[in-house]
Amino acid sequence: MTDPTTTPGRLTVIGGPMFAGKSGELLTRVRRRGIAGARVAVVSHAWDTRQGDGVIATHDGGTIPARGASSVEDIDAAVAEALADGGLDLVAIDEAQFFGADLRPCVERLLGAGIDVLVAGLCVTFDAEPFAPLPDLMALAEETVKLTAVCVTCGRDASFHERIERSAADSPDDLGPGHVGGTRMYAARCREHHPAFARG
Ligand SMILES: [Zn+2]
Repeated sequence: MTDPTTTPGRLTVIGGPMFAGKSGELLTRVRRRGIAGARVAVVSHAWDTRQGDGVIATHDGGTIPARGASSVEDIDAAVAEALADGGLDLVAIDEAQFFGADLRPCVERLLGAGIDVLVAGLCVTFDAEPFAPLPDLMALAEETVKLTAVCVTCGRDASFHERIERSAADSPDDLGPGHVGGTRMYAARCREHHPAFARG
């Protein structure tokens, strides 16, 4: 897929905790590129079914058509389809944390093929640890956007989120579907008010 005569694409990564507006920022950027005439493919992980299949939904109610993908193979298939359908300038990938370590080589293939990549996802887990592969992608990006939420305890900027309620479907080490949005299950926290940083 990589052609040595092709100008590489540009990588932009939007990272942050839950409730930071990452999907909204992705949608804004996708819409701007669309207005400018770019051919855009939007992909979200198939686990994110906040508002049903086929759309990316933000916590504030915005939506945009998106293709559900459960693996990087699905992203590759969407890209191949778009290329066959007339070309592709930008691939936007929401909920990127769910694609795991396979996402970095996938993104690098796209960039090598001259396609811009916009990635949005959680860069921290609910226990305030770096959430692969977002930290690596942020380090390698041309542009990073680090968003914060609002701490539910004090109102300051929140770079973290905490799991505040378990559902029957969650396993103790679950980083899967349970991480998809919803104010009942997670709360934004600043460093002072996240239990991972509690001083003993
Ligand atoms: Zn706080």
